[in-house]
Amino acid sequence: MNLPVKRYLALLVTYLKPQWGKTLFMGALLLVNVGLQLLGPQIVRVFIDTIIARGSSATLALYALLLVGVTLVDESVSVATTYLSESVAWTATNQMRTDLVAHCLSLDMGFHKARTAGEMIERIDGDVDALSNFFSQFVLFLLSNVILMVGVLIAVYVADWRAGLVLTVFSLITLLILLRLRRYANPLWVSYRQLVATFYGFLGEHLAATEDMRANEATGYIMRRFYQLLRPLLRGNRRARMATSLSSATTLTIFVLGSALMMGLGAYLWSIGAITLGTVYLFWSYTDLLSQPIQQIRNQLQDLQQAEACIQRIEQLFSTQSAIQESEQSIEPPSGPLTVAFHNVTFGYNAGEPVLHEVSFDIAPGKVLGILGRTGSGKTTLARLLFRLYDTQQGEVYLGGSPVNALALRGLRQRVGIVTQDVQLFNAPVRDNLTFFNRAIDDAQLLQVIDAVGLSAWYQTLPAGLDSMLGADGQGLSAGEAQLLAFARVFLKDPGLVIFDEASSRLDPATERRIERAVSSILANRTGIVIAHRLATIQRADDILILEGGRICEYGPREALAADPHSRFSHLLQVGLEEVRA
Ligand code: ATP
Ligand code: MG
Repeated sequence: MNLPVKRYLALLVTYLKPQWGKTLFMGALLLVNVGLQLLGPQIVRVFIDTIIARGSSATLALYALLLVGVTLVDESVSVATTYLSESVAWTATNQMRTDLVAHCLSLDMGFHKARTAGEMIERIDGDVDALSNFFSQFVLFLLSNVILMVGVLIAVYVADWRAGLVLTVFSLITLLILLRLRRYANPLWVSYRQLVATFYGFLGEHLAATEDMRANEATGYIMRRFYQLLRPLLRGNRRARMATSLSSATTLTIFVLGSALMMGLGAYLWSIGAITLGTVYLFWSYTDLLSQPIQQIRNQLQDLQQAEACIQRIEQLFSTQSAIQESEQSIEPPSGPLTVAFHNVTFGYNAGEPVLHEVSFDIAPGKVLGILGRTGSGKTTLARLLFRLYDTQQGEVYLGGSPVNALALRGLRQRVGIVTQDVQLFNAPVRDNLTFFNRAIDDAQLLQVIDAVGLSAWYQTLPAGLDSMLGADGQGLSAGEAQLLAFARVFLKDPGLVIFDEASSRLDPATERRIERAVSSILANRTGIVIAHRLATIQRADDILILEGGRICEYGPREALAADPHSRFSHLLQVGLEEVRA
């Protein structure tokens, strides 16, 4: 028990310290709230006793006004506390979300590939959301409720010790029963939440693939899975809700029984002349008041249980270290075109299943290497290693003369440009899509680059120029235009090595020509790796490397290979590149 308390405290301190003033003020308001709640029944009690003693109406009016005043202040304090607790909770949880997002962005691709988008949303938003109560309320509310409960009991003891004793025993037994009741409902909610997470994971994945799904007529299957996932959702929710409402019905019954008990006891004590009628009211009123702290204490303890699971998951996420660590040397890559070298590189996404086997090659600065190979032969994987999205298992990748894992990550990624097979576009203005939200780049430069990649004609059609919005996933853009936009991004980055991982989709000849022209201008005075699916692209390579099953099966100068009638390359040139793609 010692350990979790320490961890909770650490979390609370981290995220509440910046707002300690607000938090303390909230604590003070809660105490005022408790005091006023205890005061109300006392005023009514005196009011009743004054009536019975035939006191003056002026005194009665005074008590009535006092009660109204106390209630008004109490309600205002409640409103202020709610406002403060929400504000404290949101500030704390938003900071936590920000920290988690920043941390996840620093994690390696292996981590992200292993998780669906839905799962990440649930990890970052769902878990943190469940913690908001923990931040805003847990310590203070638990404390104030305990104080309220103890206050009520003491007040009743002061009025009559027998009643105090009975109410204490009643409270303890009720708290125990309620905690036990929650134990039934709780696991049902946990499993319901899991079902929801699975459902969202499914939705996220398939919404992203709507186009393919429709094109391939997979909608029938998707709808069936949808129903399959939806049905247990209903069942799970119904069961959890039933358990919760049964538990609240039981709670209500217990408190009604408690009130009856205290009324009976009060009536008896009054009949023997031990207490006044006002005190009988006080007992009833305090028993009623007690239901609130007892239920809230129960809720807080239950929230803590839920929070524990979330806190564990969040801590786990925070402690996940990126497999790609910044090197201590942090060498900055040189400027100008970069040399590239692979020395006996073996790599696999999963240990023991290599995708690349002992791959070695060199590219001199400013030269272009064309890579060919069947689908799945490891071409994209090779590019990812250069970008250091993964680390090799054996051998070394060199860039600009230094091993990539000795280079500063930022510098490395700045000096290597990549155009991937599927271009990611954001639902944002054209400007941000080009600059990746870097506002330091001015419009004149953007227009120049748009012109350089041959997108001027497309740009003229935009309704609001650089401020025109692009749809997510490149809605409204053809595959060729999306590629050209990606080229423009590379231009802006001005890297020393460019990797083109060509999309295998077919483009119309006019677009192909535009792309070829853009590739040529990007490659001028840069080292290039062209993973080619088109003959025209491969023609500009100085060297050719053919991969097969992750191994190099042919590597040499393009012209020599083309001239050698026995080479794979010359064969490919004759039959066309269709064969490599198959
Ligand atoms: P294509 O021409 O279709 O683009 P490729 O040559 O680029 O193919 P890679 O994407 O490098 O092929 O994939 C090589 C192998 O690695 C394939 O068997 C693939 O299934 C596997 N692979 C690719 N990405 C991952 C990943 N993130 N996790 C596990 N395995 C992967
Ligand atoms: Mg690929």
